[in-house]
Amino acid sequence: MIAESMDRIRITGLDVFARHGVFPEENRLGQHFLVNAVLYTSTRQAGRTDELEQTTNYGEVCQVITDTLQQHTWKLIEAAAEHTARAILLDFPLISAVELELCKPSAPIPLPFGSVSVTIRRSWHKAYVALGSNLGDRRGLIQRALEGLSALEEVRLGRCSTLIETAPYGGVEQGNFLNGAVELDTLFTPQELLEALHTLEQQANRVRQVHWGPRTLDLDILLYDDLVLHSEQLTIPHADMTNRAFVLEPMAEIAPYAVHPGLGKTMEQLLAELKERGSC
Ligand code: ADP
Ligand code: MG
Repeated sequence: MIAESMDRIRITGLDVFARHGVFPEENRLGQHFLVNAVLYTSTRQAGRTDELEQTTNYGEVCQVITDTLQQHTWKLIEAAAEHTARAILLDFPLISAVELELCKPSAPIPLPFGSVSVTIRRSWHKAYVALGSNLGDRRGLIQRALEGLSALEEVRLGRCSTLIETAPYGGVEQGNFLNGAVELDTLFTPQELLEALHTLEQQANRVRQVHWGPRTLDLDILLYDDLVLHSEQLTIPHADMTNRAFVLEPMAEIAPYAVHPGLGKTMEQLLAELKERGSC
C-alpha cells in the first residue's frame, strides 16, 4: 500500500445529543453520545496546493455524523455506527475508509463504569463482475443489469468492457453468449454483493436449470480487492476464471494490470498464458 493512502483525518470527542437505545426512556429523553472518527484519505493534493477543495471538509463530516445520529432512532449503537459510517462514505467521495467509534457514556448499566462503545471500520471495495447472457435480448438484459447495479447506493460502476460474442462453454448444446466484465466500487461485503447479483439475475427471469446451461443473465464475482476466499457459497477469485478467455479478454481490456491474488499474475499475463495453452 502506498503511503498517501494511509493518510488520516481524525475527529475526536464529537458530542451528539440523540435518542438511541433499547429502552423507551432512552428514546424519549435522549442522551449524549461521543464520536471518534478516523477518515482515510490521501491528503497529498491538499498538502501540495493548500486548497480546501482538494480535501474533505472535516466540519461537514461532523455535521453529517450529527445529522445522521439525530435524524434516526436506533436501538443499538451497532446500528447507529453502521449507518453513520455508511453516510460518511456515501457523502464524501475522497474518503476511502472510515473507522468510527460510537461511545455511550450514559448507557443504562446499573454499575460503575466509564463508557461503552463500538468501533467499526468500513470502506469502499474494488470488485470485478463477469457479465454473461445467451437467452433472449442478450444485450438489453446485460444493459438492464448494469442499470440495476448503478441504481444501488452501495455500488459505483467503473469501466465496462465491450461485450463479446463467444461460443458456449461446458459442453451443453446452446446458443452463443454475450460476455463482458465491469469494474465497480462497492460498500457490500462479498456475500452481500452476491445477493445483489442474484436479485438482478432473478429480475432477468433467470431459471436455474442445467449447470452451465442457457441463461438470460449470469453475474459472477471475479475479484474483490485482493481477497482470497473459499466458502460454501463463494469462491473468490472466481474458480474458473483463468480457463475462460471470455472472462480474461474483457478483464484484460478494463483492468490489464489487476492482479489475481492467488496466482500473483495480471489479467494480461493470464490471458497470454491461456492463449499459449491454446484452450480458448
Ligand atoms: P455458474 O456461474 O458457475 O455458471 P451459477 O450462476 O448458477 O453457475 O452459480 C452457482 C453458484 O455459484 C452461486 O449460487 C454461488 O453461490 C456460487 N459461486 C461461487 N463462487 C462464485 C462467484 N465468485 N461468483 C458468483 N457465484 C459464485
Ligand atoms: Mg453465476
